[in-house]
Amino acid sequence: MTTLYEHGTLAALMAGNFAGTITVGDLLKHGSTGIGTFDGLDGEVVILDNEVYQAVASGRVNHITDLDATMPFAAVHFPKDPQPLTLKDVNFTRVNHDLVAARQLDNVFAFLQLHGTFMRVRIRIAPKQQRPYPTLLAVAQHQPEFSAIDITGTILGYYAPAIFGTITAAGWHLHFISDNRQFAGHLLDFAAPQLTGSLEVFDSLEQHLPIENHAFRESTVDMRTLREGIARSEGSAE
Ligand SMILES: [Zn+2]
Repeated sequence: MTTLYEHGTLAALMAGNFAGTITVGDLLKHGSTGIGTFDGLDGEVVILDNEVYQAVASGRVNHITDLDATMPFAAVHFPKDPQPLTLKDVNFTRVNHDLVAARQLDNVFAFLQLHGTFMRVRIRIAPKQQRPYPTLLAVAQHQPEFSAIDITGTILGYYAPAIFGTITAAGWHLHFISDNRQFAGHLLDFAAPQLTGSLEVFDSLEQHLPIENHAFRESTVDMRTLREGIARSEGSAE
């Protein structure tokens, strides 16, 4: 069994539930690798081999060692059955279409990790929010973006089937971090001549909810606007 563990839901984030509801220490019990964000929607998180990195809106990347720091949304897993992968002339369009088709990912959860030297990378970083929290859609209109050229690093993240596109982002949700750990964020676009890494397909999803959090228990999800709001906040390049 290969399990993807997700804490919180994208729908809850859309409704402005940005308060941290799982500690880094607890999250790492469920996976050594993954992505997420911190309390208050503070930045973009990359977890690699139990090391937690947080890109904040200034563009700085913090190495997080405080196991009591909390996160409202995160997905992690323990690598178990990674299939080696080499891709040439790779960009977001090819990952969105060719890779998904070639590996029959449409109806499964999967994890992708690719390393190499990128011709270009464009990322964005969610800025920390103050209470009362706005919706994710409102935040998404004002997010700093950063670009780099000729940079060596890793992209990693998850693929989710369209039918699960309210608990998480449908399609790929990928983050980037440079080898020198000084440039990271939510991946918007990239191009690379060749990347090597691995792909892992999960047969199980463990969806964990913050049942002790009052705001989460009391919040209302507007199902009529949810999918469009998610597409506008979390959509990746086509
Ligand atoms: Zn992200």
